[in-house]
Amino acid sequence: MDANTSTEARKRSKPEDENYRPPKRTVKIDQIATATTNITTPNKFATLTEDSEVPTTAENQTTDHENTKPSSKKRSTHRSSTDNFKVLNINPSTSDTNTTNTATEDAKNTIPIVLRNKAKLENLRQKMNTNKINYTKASTTAQGIRIQPQCTDDYRKLRKLMEAEGHEYHTHSPRQERSLKVVIRGIPVESTEEEIIEDLNRQGYPVFKITRMNGKQKIPAPMVLVELERKYNSIYKLTHVVGLSITTEALRQSGEIIQCHRCQLFGHIQQNCTAEYKCMKCAENHNTHECVKPKTIAAKCSNCGGPHTSTYKNCNERSKFMKHNRKIDAIHIIAWNCNGISNKKQELQTYAHIHKSDIILLNESHSKPQHSLCMKNYMTYRQDRIDRVGGGVAALVKK
Ligand SMILES: [Zn+2]
Ligand SMILES: [Zn+2]
Ligand SMILES: [Zn+2]
Repeated sequence: MDANTSTEARKRSKPEDENYRPPKRTVKIDQIATATTNITTPNKFATLTEDSEVPTTAENQTTDHENTKPSSKKRSTHRSSTDNFKVLNINPSTSDTNTTNTATEDAKNTIPIVLRNKAKLENLRQKMNTNKINYTKASTTAQGIRIQPQCTDDYRKLRKLMEAEGHEYHTHSPRQERSLKVVIRGIPVESTEEEIIEDLNRQGYPVFKITRMNGKQKIPAPMVLVELERKYNSIYKLTHVVGLSITTEALRQSGEIIQCHRCQLFGHIQQNCTAEYKCMKCAENHNTHECVKPKTIAAKCSNCGGPHTSTYKNCNERSKFMKHNRKIDAIHIIAWNCNGISNKKQELQTYAHIHKSDIILLNESHSKPQHSLCMKNYMTYRQDRIDRVGGGVAALVKK
């Protein structure tokens, strides 16, 4: 890896970097899901409707699990003993029990495209008719006309058409086209990026990007972020890299909203935007890199007109977007008859992290008051059986 790439990698580790967002809920552990139920709760920011183009912070991910370095033995038991997990995917729009209308389901899952110039809708509609591009819904939003293509094929055709016609739009990448971003823990800073890439390649994982992650004090940590094609998701089963025991996990989300570096609006990234450039510093119609505004002149926000750059965290427009774009998202619940939790906490923690579990319900915890049932980022509610062996229940709720 050359110096430029390394520099870019360092830049990309900043939480506000638009490209730095995780594959959300992409990891599936084989045959674990045994039950599904659906509920909804408003707890995430909506962008369009997609879920993985959300920024993450490398720093949050650096030291949280410093104590979670399971041996390869632990990893092998992890897989074999998770069969009792019941995963409750709670989201009515993705219920897997009543999928009689597959077309409707597909339509719900397609990615919307936002036509930025509302006046161009009629023109676009005519072209869509001519090209037999179907959509299920078009609605007006503050950012433009939000068009919901009928299926993924329509999405691709519409995007191509809009590009050909020179329409300004923004959207998201289809999930299958996004890269898989995986954090590998346990690789010391002494291991070079070249060595790691070479070994991953040898093991059948052609990584196209690697980033050394930093600890909380911005000190390089024994963990790297690798990006590769989504089809290589068996990388989560890796146990060794450069001869060392390692663990893998999905990149976490930071909770930050994403912002386009091209048009400065929130909720999408510049790779999926063809809107007119807005300068981050002076709000004029040019790429920020071409800005010649002297530092002595105050910045101007292209979103609110205020005297700050458009990436300013306390910008009113940013707050408004966050407030008005909360997403009805899924709650992920695990129900597990764990038959004694004391030697399975690490396993549970890993599983809960991968699945971004919100609530963990345990029975047969076999815990006694002197046993800790605490897990990072979770509140624990428990009822131990103290008069005899066995029993015990606990509920862990994400803070
Ligand atoms: Zn944009
Ligand atoms: Zn400028
Ligand atoms: Zn502003």
